[in-house]
Amino acid sequence: MTRFPPEPNGWIHIGHAKAMFLDFGLSEMKGGKCYMRFDDTNPAKEKDEFIEGIKKDVHWMGFDWWKITHTSDYFDTLYQFAIRLIKEGLAYVCHQTKQEISEGREKHTPSPWRDRPVEESLREFELMKCGYYAPSEATLRLKMDITSPNPNMYDQVAYRIIYNTHPRTHDQWCIYPTYDYSHCVIDSIKHITHSLCTLEFENRRESYYWVLDALKIYKPVVWEFSRLNLTHTVMSKRRLQALVFGHLVDGWDDPRMPTVAGLRRRGFTASAIRNFVKGLGFTRNVTTMIPYHRLEFIQSQELDETASRAFCVLDPIKITISNFSEADGADITTAFLFPKAQDKGIRKMNLTKVIYIDRDDFREIPDTKFQRLTKTNPVGLKYANIKIKVTQVIKKDDVVVELVCEKINDDTPVKFIHWVSEDSPVVEVRLYEHLFKSEDPMSVEGDWRDDLNE
Ligand code: ATP
Ligand code: MG
Repeated sequence: MTRFPPEPNGWIHIGHAKAMFLDFGLSEMKGGKCYMRFDDTNPAKEKDEFIEGIKKDVHWMGFDWWKITHTSDYFDTLYQFAIRLIKEGLAYVCHQTKQEISEGREKHTPSPWRDRPVEESLREFELMKCGYYAPSEATLRLKMDITSPNPNMYDQVAYRIIYNTHPRTHDQWCIYPTYDYSHCVIDSIKHITHSLCTLEFENRRESYYWVLDALKIYKPVVWEFSRLNLTHTVMSKRRLQALVFGHLVDGWDDPRMPTVAGLRRRGFTASAIRNFVKGLGFTRNVTTMIPYHRLEFIQSQELDETASRAFCVLDPIKITISNFSEADGADITTAFLFPKAQDKGIRKMNLTKVIYIDRDDFREIPDTKFQRLTKTNPVGLKYANIKIKVTQVIKKDDVVVELVCEKINDDTPVKFIHWVSEDSPVVEVRLYEHLFKSEDPMSVEGDWRDDLNE
């Protein structure tokens, strides 16, 4: 029994694809089941829109859950467990501010409320639940181990007050369990056998088991694996949120985003993303940056076999073939849909007197390595079986706008270039570069957003 536990505070990204591959994949491999769990414990940040988006993207990735659970389905249970912890002297209501708590953590000093009587904490917790306090005035804390070198053992907050309306429980509660308190409890009561998470949770293992030991309930196995980081992008949801909410991209599904929806719009397929994460392996190695081009390479390997080819000219130069005859025009040429698998079909191409080639395939002043079309060097037109040589270069404002060429018949070996005929359809082509200029935008000096590739 495993679970995939996204927090519905954004759309899922390719890092989640790695986690999904493990959560869904491992249970499938072992004949088990995988829950989809929405950790919806912070109504200030979470939205139903994200839940729907995540479900759609998980399915698109080709994964399926056994059942969906929401942490909010268990708010009652979590609350009853909290009462039990207070009664056993293992939790207390604390009135320290956030800053006082972090100072205490640094100095290993206890909260002045740590040893208040059980009855008092029970009453105060009830007041928290009834809406008596402002958000910063009270929390429920676990009586862990303030002397521990592990900061997560410093009396974690189990409940805090939030007055936002929750997407599912609406205004029923104004106290919400924290991730740390609820995650392990839900793992336990849903009988998760293997709770898989990323390495940054490793030092929370101790507190995870502390809660389950304190409640005397079943303890799953916890395994950590390394996070996926890709070059030229950011992966943390907090940063992706900053890009979306700051209108620095056109939304979560902007094709430059590393989100599943963004990658989909960019043209990536689910199978390529899955093959990519599969190839990463699942280790505990210190996180390295995986080059973005590795993802592109896996995608192009797949497209090589699945996407039929067509010629397209992005930045055209017009070519007029001066000695073109009607007879040449009648000569419709055939091109292979898959050059490496020629039995998979052909397409017809119409050779016309006027054609277009890519500006890149012509040089007025070539360097010695350039082997395509120049004023002295002829080229062949791929699939059309003719060779052309330049007879006149027509320019406007110093820019080459047209080449007049001549069909030639000789045996000189030439390079073949792609071309399109005059009657080809006009298409819209969207070209994307990396979202960030640097491989690791977080390591550049100043604000990481300044590294955005405008
Ligand atoms: P983020 O830092 O992006 O907000 P998160 O851990 O808060 O990530 P969640 O939605 O809570 O995001 O995570 C759901 C699951 O996906 C968790 O098990 C988490 O460990 C995993 N996950 C998140 N980011 C990555 C990543 N970059 N690589 C691998 N797994 C990840
Ligand atoms: Mg999280």
